[in-house]
Amino acid sequence: MNCHPTVAFHTLGCKLNYTETGAIAKEFEKAGYNKVSFDGSADVYVINTCSVTENADKECKTMINRAMKKNPDAFIAVIGCYAQLKPEKIAGFDGVDMVVGASSKFSFIQEIKLKKNDKAVIMSCDIESVEKFIAAHSDETRTRAFLKIQDGCDYNCSYCTIPLARGKSRSNSISNILKEIDELALRGVKEVVLTGVNIGDFYYYENEKKISFTDLLHELEKSDGIERFRISSIEPNLVSDEIIRFVAQSKKFMPHFHIPLQSGSDRILNRMRRRYRSGLYASKVEKIKSLIPYAAIGGDVITGFAGETEEDFQQTYNFIEKLGMSYLHVFTYSERDHTHALLLDGVVPYRVRKERTAKLRALSEKLNRQFREKNQGRKLKVLFENSNHNGLMEGYSENYIRISAPYDENKVNSIIEIEYEPEMAELS
Ligand code: SF4
Repeated sequence: MNCHPTVAFHTLGCKLNYTETGAIAKEFEKAGYNKVSFDGSADVYVINTCSVTENADKECKTMINRAMKKNPDAFIAVIGCYAQLKPEKIAGFDGVDMVVGASSKFSFIQEIKLKKNDKAVIMSCDIESVEKFIAAHSDETRTRAFLKIQDGCDYNCSYCTIPLARGKSRSNSISNILKEIDELALRGVKEVVLTGVNIGDFYYYENEKKISFTDLLHELEKSDGIERFRISSIEPNLVSDEIIRFVAQSKKFMPHFHIPLQSGSDRILNRMRRRYRSGLYASKVEKIKSLIPYAAIGGDVITGFAGETEEDFQQTYNFIEKLGMSYLHVFTYSERDHTHALLLDGVVPYRVRKERTAKLRALSEKLNRQFREKNQGRKLKVLFENSNHNGLMEGYSENYIRISAPYDENKVNSIIEIEYEPEMAELS
């Protein structure tokens, strides 16, 4: 008989959330829990929520119901960004035993009981008081790991709830990051993706000296054990020429930049309270292209933001098309409580927002196809992952092209050089 309690996790939202779920799962394992699938019966279910997801409410309720169906007596904890923003609301959902805000996200395990509460307990906090950095890295695969180096954000983009859910910007120290890197290398991880909310804003003081993101990059370049690093999303105003030059000559940092654009219209960027205008964005992309011609350059775009006219949208479309980016992540704007954007006029009808999203997604496909064609015949180095999809395995090239090849156990978790043909790829 297995006397260890079981715990199951479900994560909504971004890579940072997945990374943190990994760290929380480790705490449960240390406390003697066995981790099981969310699709099976567990004693405890943990749902890590997101405040950016369009249907945060609905998704959260769906997962609670799914857990209740599997085990009506299970203890259900709802944690994460949405739990920080709407604790009372979530506490009112049927089946919830605990709602955990930002400050207790990594310590609530001590409060869990292996029976249902009569009433949901709320462990919330004033987000202004959250200052501690808690380290985390993902633990699902051997091949690639996401490593949290920074949390929170001091920016105030008018549509965004993340600063309200995650608090002020704070960073891990380089010495701690190097320790985590060693741990991941020992596990056999080959590629580490640096993750955070606003990673370009990584900084802290050591003996009164400011340690910056570029200092971290230089230290990682010198480190042993991990063969590849990737910078995840970085704000345009923080992609310095120094960073671009560094990646251009680096042996370890992959030629891949993900730079949120959000809009190609300066009028809309102003309303969004973004800290750059389209000219600066274009200059960064041009600089990358001139120094690293085959770099992948992706970005996020929001369609239908308050006040976005047809002309603003067309400007965005033309801007992206002309820049020739490699791919886009397109999000349809949806209003969020407690944001400044709610006060703005010019609400765009939902149907129009969706049409604009569809147009930009089609543009993204076209740009991605062109990017893959540009790489035709080139030698690319692919890190193959350990999953067998109908006899095929997949991996990413240095410049983020998703490539498939016949499954070969000996090539799993290895970096293999191939001559690239676009039919080997899927949309990344
Ligand atoms: S930079 Fe802007 S969009 Fe990104 S987390 Fe900070 S406030 Fe939100």
